[in-house]
This record gives sequence, C-alpha cells and structure tokens, in this order.
Amino acid sequence: MKRLDPENVHNALTIDVEDWYHVSNYEAKPVLPPESRRVRQNVERILAILAEYHIKATFFMLGSVAEEEPTLAGDIVRDGHEIASHGYSHTLVPRLGPNNFRDEIRRTAEVIGRQTGCKPVGFRAPQWSIGPGISWAVDILQEEGYLYDSSYNPLPFVGDRKGPRTPFAIATTGAVLSRCRPW
Ligand SMILES: [Zn+2]
Repeated sequence: MKRLDPENVHNALTIDVEDWYHVSNYEAKPVLPPESRRVRQNVERILAILAEYHIKATFFMLGSVAEEEPTLAGDIVRDGHEIASHGYSHTLVPRLGPNNFRDEIRRTAEVIGRQTGCKPVGFRAPQWSIGPGISWAVDILQEEGYLYDSSYNPLPFVGDRKGPRTPFAIATTGAVLSRCRPW
C-alpha cells in the first residue's frame, strides 16, 4: 500500500459556534438551565488551543450567537480563522422552508458582515439538514452568493447517507478562491 507523504496531507477542522441548547435533541428535554450559556467561554478555550498549535479552522457561526456575543466573530477572524454561516436560529432547513431559509442566511450574513467586515462564503445547515429532496436550499445559497456548502453529511440519521464522502461540485462556479465577501 502506498504511504501518504505527511507533507501532502491536508486536514480540515471545522467548529460549529452554538450553545448547548441550540442542539435539536435538547428542545424537549433541557439538560441545563437556559441561562447557562457556554458558547463564549468554549470558543475562547478553543481559540487558545488552536493558537498554541498554530492551527487554523473554519467556524460555522449562528447569526443569533453573533448578535448575543457581538465581539466573538471578530475574535475568531482576528486569530486568522474563517467564519462561515450556520444559519440564524439553528432551525432545521426543511422546517424553515425556502422563504424563511433565505431570510435566515441573509440575516446571519449581515450580522457577521457588520461585525467582521466580511460576509461568509460558506454554509453548514443546522444538524446537516440539507439532503436529498431539498435542493432548493442549495439553489438559494448560490443565489445569495455562497460559494460552498458543508451540509451534505454521509451519516445514518442526518444528511445524505448515500452522499459522496469527498468534496464535489454542484455547479460550475469554479474553485472557492475567497473566504470573504466584503460587507
Ligand atoms: Zn449546529
């Protein structure tokens, strides 16, 4: 078997910026008091670890978290990481429907753009909730200027189980050359 040259192995690290209560499984059964917010302290801890090991990552951020923690997106960008969109409210995309989905990604792009000077070019659906049957969401992402989507996830219970396990093009927009759209 051919061994990979470690110099040519590229790893991608992504982090969803949300609080514990945004996760859909906790809607019915909260595990902590609602006021027990953790997102800022956890992101600060992650930023310190990444800085120590000189690692850059992509942070998929909720627009609602960016509004509630108005300096957090700037802290992430200042450390050289990419900010991408995770939607606004962490509502699953099929539940939103096309009009509310467009409103959410616009609202999130505006908040992050105002805070960092850059509108995101990447998107990840809450709980990878873009899969077969809702290609309209990908069309809307393209119309709104997004260059890549990180929602198709080949897991058994979310995303597209039969989906590809490597990056693939859904349009002929070319390579992702930028991680910033000036606000
Ligand atoms: Zn999430």
